[in-house]
Amino acid sequence: MTSTLRDFAVIGSGPMGLMAALELLRAGHRVDVYERDDRIGGMSASFDFDGLRIERYYHFVCKTDEPLFTLLAELGLSDALKWTDTKMGYFVDGKLYKWGTPFALLAFPKLGWIEKIRYALHVMHTKGIRDWTALDQRNAREWIQSWIGKRAWDVMWERAFHLKFFEYTDQLSASWIGTRIKRVALSRRNLFNESLGYLEGGSATVLAGMVAEIERLGGRIHLSAPVQEVASHAGRVTGLRIHGELRPADAVLSTAPIQYVPGFVPGLPAEFADRIRRIENIPVACVILKLRHAISENFWMNISDAGIGIPGVIEYSNLNPGTRAGEHILYAPFYMPKTHPKWSLPNEALIDEVIGYLGRINPDFRPDWVLGRHCHRYEFAQTICPPGFQAMLPPMRTPLEGFFMADTAYYYPEDRSICESVKVGSALAREALAG
Ligand SMILES: Cc1cc2nc3c(=O)[nH]c(=O)nc-3n(C[C@H](O)[C@H](O)[C@H](O)COP(=O)(O)OP(=O)(O)OC[C@H]3O[C@@H](n4cnc5c(N)ncnc54)[C@H](O)[C@@H]3O)c2cc1C
Repeated sequence: MTSTLRDFAVIGSGPMGLMAALELLRAGHRVDVYERDDRIGGMSASFDFDGLRIERYYHFVCKTDEPLFTLLAELGLSDALKWTDTKMGYFVDGKLYKWGTPFALLAFPKLGWIEKIRYALHVMHTKGIRDWTALDQRNAREWIQSWIGKRAWDVMWERAFHLKFFEYTDQLSASWIGTRIKRVALSRRNLFNESLGYLEGGSATVLAGMVAEIERLGGRIHLSAPVQEVASHAGRVTGLRIHGELRPADAVLSTAPIQYVPGFVPGLPAEFADRIRRIENIPVACVILKLRHAISENFWMNISDAGIGIPGVIEYSNLNPGTRAGEHILYAPFYMPKTHPKWSLPNEALIDEVIGYLGRINPDFRPDWVLGRHCHRYEFAQTICPPGFQAMLPPMRTPLEGFFMADTAYYYPEDRSICESVKVGSALAREALAG
C-alpha cells in the first residue's frame, strides 16, 4: 500500500484501460474507469450474434504473447487459453494455394526458385531480429524488396499493403511490418505447424476477469460515460467533465485513441496537441458472417486477386471450433481511410460485397449458406507508423501535470494485440504512479 492515497481516473475500458486501472488499484489507490460506450472492451468488445456471444473483430493469440499469459495466470484463467494447429491459405489470381509451411512455399507456382529462397531467408532473418532501431528508419517496401526482389514483392505484398493502407502504402516503417512477420513466424509448434491460440469464451473471458478483479479491489467502471473534457487549472489536472458534471481526480490516464485527446484536453500546450494530430490512423469496417459451411480449411486466407477488394478472410471457426454445429464464423475486414468512397457505403453494401466474393473463392458456396450477417466499424483501428515513428510518438507523460496518455500507437513497433494493450497499460500506470 502507498502512503498517499490518490484518486485516479482512467479513460477507456478496453484491455489497456482495464490493465492500467488494475495496476493503480494494486498500488492501493482509488480508481474510476470511464467508458464512452455502453459496454467494455473497445476493439475487443463482443456482441450478441443471434444468440452467439462473439467478438466484433477476430482475435487470435500468439505463442509470444507473454504479458497476456501472465495476466491470465494472475486471474486464474490460464486454462481458458487453447491452441489449434491452424492452416493458412493464399488466394492468388483465382486459385487457392496452401501457405505458411516450407512445403507450401516449395509448391507455390507464383515465385521462382531464387525468389522462394530469398523469401525464406527474409522470414528466417526477421524471426531473429531483437533490436528494431535501425529498421524504424527504413521504408517497409524498400526493406522487403531488398530481401525478396521487386517481382516477389508485387506477388506477395503489393496488393495486401494497398488494400490496407491505400495512399499511405509507401509511408510505413520496416520495423512495423517486421514485428508482424516475426510474431506469426514464432507462433509455431514446429517448422510444419503454425499454432495459434484463442480464449474459450473469446476476449470477453479475460475482460470479465479483469473487471471482477478491479471491482474486488474497490475500483468502479462507469459505462455510457463519455469524457467531454479533462479539466485543469494552472497547468494541472483537476478532474473530468462527464454529462456536464465535474468529477474531481488527482490524475487522469487516457487510453482512448490519441486522436481524440486534443479535442477533450484543452489544457495541453498547442505544440504538444499538434504533435498528437500528426499521428494518422486507418478505420476498419469488418463484416462478420455466420455460414452453414466452411469456405476453406484455413483460419487465415490472404487474397491477392484483382477482382476481390479485401486483403483476406478469417475463418474463425477453423481456430475456435466452439461455435454451434452448422454455424461457421467468417470475418472479412475492409481497412480504408475515410477518404475512400467505400467508407460512405452502408454496412449492407459491404456485407453484400463480401458475400459476392465467396463464390469466387469456393465455387460450392451458395448464398443460402449465409445464416447471419453483421458489419462493425472502428474509427481508429490501425495507426499509420511511418519511418521514424519512434521519435514521432509523444511521451505518455504529457506537459499537463497529472495527465498521462497512451493508445495502440504505443505498441510500436509491435503488432496490434490485446497482449500489447496489457503491456502498455501497465507501463502507463507505472508512469502515473511515478508522480
Ligand atoms: C479488425 C481487428 C482485428 C484484430 N485482431 C486482433 C487479434 O487477432 N489479436 C489481438 O490480440 N488483437 C487484435 N486486435 C487488436 C485488439 O482488439 C486491440 O489491440 C485492443 O482491443 C486495444 O485495446 P485498447 O484498450 O488499447 O484500445 P481500444 O480498444 O481502442 O479502447 C479504447 C476505449 O476508449 C473508449 N473511449 C474513447 N473515447 C472516449 C471518451 N471520450 N470517454 C470515455 N471513453 C472513451 C472507447 O470507447 C474504447 O472502449 C484486432 C483489432 C481489430 C480492429
